[in-house]
Amino acid sequence: MKVTDMISTPLSVPLKWPSRNGFAIERANPVIVQLFTDEGLEGIGLAFTFNDQRVKSLKACIDDLKETVVGQDIFRWAEAWQKLWTDTRWMGHQGYPIYALSAIDTALWDLRAKAAGLPVARLLGGYRDEVPVYASHLLFRNWSIDELQKDAASLVKQGFRAMKMNMGHKPFQVELERLKAVREVVGDNIDIMVDVNWAWTVPQAIQMGRELEKYDVYWLEDPLASNDPADWALVTNALGLRVAGGETLSSKYDFRRGFENKALDVLMPDLQRVGGVTEWMKVAAIAEAWNLPVASHVFHEFSAHMVAAIPNGLIVEYMPWWEFLYKEPPLLKDGCIKISNKPGFGLELDPDIIKKHAMK
Ligand SMILES: [Mg+2]
Repeated sequence: MKVTDMISTPLSVPLKWPSRNGFAIERANPVIVQLFTDEGLEGIGLAFTFNDQRVKSLKACIDDLKETVVGQDIFRWAEAWQKLWTDTRWMGHQGYPIYALSAIDTALWDLRAKAAGLPVARLLGGYRDEVPVYASHLLFRNWSIDELQKDAASLVKQGFRAMKMNMGHKPFQVELERLKAVREVVGDNIDIMVDVNWAWTVPQAIQMGRELEKYDVYWLEDPLASNDPADWALVTNALGLRVAGGETLSSKYDFRRGFENKALDVLMPDLQRVGGVTEWMKVAAIAEAWNLPVASHVFHEFSAHMVAAIPNGLIVEYMPWWEFLYKEPPLLKDGCIKISNKPGFGLELDPDIIKKHAMK
């Protein structure tokens, strides 16, 4: 079965839960990638950025790879990925060229699973049919303590058993007061993750990590401004608390530096930055050899399938930025996503919504 056409559609969509994480994010710009085959199948992938202007560059990178993917035998998955990797070499193996490669690779996996009549999760391994998620769409840095407590309580009521809050730019005592307020309202049986989004030095991260341990924080994510895995290892080795990271790393080669330095306790490959489903699965397999768990970063509509496929899949980040693009988004129940039996990623775009948000 061969790819006969590719269409990319850039959107500008309002976020139902705008991020107020020190920087306001009110809208997002996904680019939907649709691949079509000579046997009438359609596969979907998605890349995104945050800016009506920048999304034009992202679309250009995706369209640049059209002639590479059209004519591709969909079942030759390693060949397809390698061709895309080779063709992006001159654009660079970081940033938008890799986002473009990833969205196309993801759409190819949607096609392969549809051709097999299986959900992607089963085609890739089928380790389980249900994966736990953590809520990541609230509890931002600019929330007041009242807002933090109200939203944390409401997440527990909705069935979430894990949630993430953000830290990074307030005095440590203030950060700890905010964490304490959330812990008080959710009780001891809910996991709390803390994401610092690259704000601290090594000594600061170790100092704060020791305080976070007292509140039984599940993981400390991206504590350091440094992007050197050797620095991450200093924090990871100093703390009993799990240190999570890796959302900005591109391909197995970046992750290799992380593994060699024993830099992280939880790996978080991001579907569009790592190089699509193919590369995500390779990083997960290498992590298994180091006895490390893997959590996903955003894109839960797609990533839940990969976390469900593998034995070392830990948890899925639930970030419902654009669920409304799909007729039936993934079902969330009791803090878990149940993988549907529909073939592929089980996603069907809502054409009216796409039309409404398509950029002119
Ligand atoms: Mg993060």
